[in-house]
Amino acid sequence: MHLSRYPRLHFAHLPTPLEAMPRISAELGGPNLWIKRDDCTGLSSGGNKTRKLEFLMADAVERGADTIITQGATQSNHARQTCAIAAKLGLDCHILLEDRTGYHDEAYALNGNVLLDQLHGAGISMRPADSDMNAEMEQLSMQLRDDGKKPYLIPGGGSNEIGALGYVNAAFELTHQANERSLHIDHLLHATGSAGTQAGLVLGMEAMNSGIPVYGVSVRAEQRKQEENVYRLIQRTAEFMGYSPDLVAREKVVANSDYVGPGYGLPTDAMVEAVKMLACYEGILLDPVYAGKGFAGLIDLVRKGHFKKGENVVFLHTGGSVSLFAYPNIFGLPGYQ
Ligand SMILES: *Cc1c(COP(=O)(O)O)cnc(C)c1O
Repeated sequence: MHLSRYPRLHFAHLPTPLEAMPRISAELGGPNLWIKRDDCTGLSSGGNKTRKLEFLMADAVERGADTIITQGATQSNHARQTCAIAAKLGLDCHILLEDRTGYHDEAYALNGNVLLDQLHGAGISMRPADSDMNAEMEQLSMQLRDDGKKPYLIPGGGSNEIGALGYVNAAFELTHQANERSLHIDHLLHATGSAGTQAGLVLGMEAMNSGIPVYGVSVRAEQRKQEENVYRLIQRTAEFMGYSPDLVAREKVVANSDYVGPGYGLPTDAMVEAVKMLACYEGILLDPVYAGKGFAGLIDLVRKGHFKKGENVVFLHTGGSVSLFAYPNIFGLPGYQ
């Protein structure tokens, strides 16, 4: 598979490290846990959207865009990474942030990703919960066009067939890393939201015939809906790449929604435990919205004996630790009530 056929700008720090986690593996007493550090992609504190944006921003530049529009939740990591790369490329950037959690305290509304969005010079406007965010982006795009701008719209999470190429490439990168050190990966697990990460990984693993199963932990939608979202994007991306849309079988798409809790961006006890455990056992920062819930799923599956002792399980760290600063009082730490 020749990804160089697609326009791409190289600004991520790749390959990201693949590291062993011996202390937390010993503590949990199950399989050998590894971590793929996509929190270290380099762009404004890193994260998974950077791989997608390498392809999306190349497309924007190729189409002559001078303005980028995207959308996400208030503490969107995707929006923050988009603001950063737009700044680097000298493009205007407008982000629409949906109030998905109903939190309006100062830390949530202004710190974490929102602080960084503003430092990168983006235009920010808020929208109420359950807005039709695609329609909102279209409307803003029309206004900007009337002003003579050439806007380029990036969907939430950068999840379309162009963005997903970033994770097709990540599947190659991880498999190559494992081959180089003769590491047999039995499972790959990560948090899934807008579906582009999982769609790219599953498609890439299948196209290479790697035999590495991908396990998504949903942070928002219930299992069936999330799996359908991922599967549809796999089909679109496969077609875009010249494969049959049926290259990947539907049952290869797994998105467990047991760890969402009360809703997107709302804390759970298991997430708090996961964030604290990884911080204390491995010195690695997760985030409350995505990787924390994903890792909570991994911890629970290990405790339930879902994986065999001696198996190698890789957790893809998708980034987001900046949003810890938007939730300083959920960890029960002294002085943060
Ligand atoms: C966006 C995001 C995810 C989910 O990736 P999708 O491609 O949207 O499914 C996971 N973790 C973090 C930190 C994210 O920002």
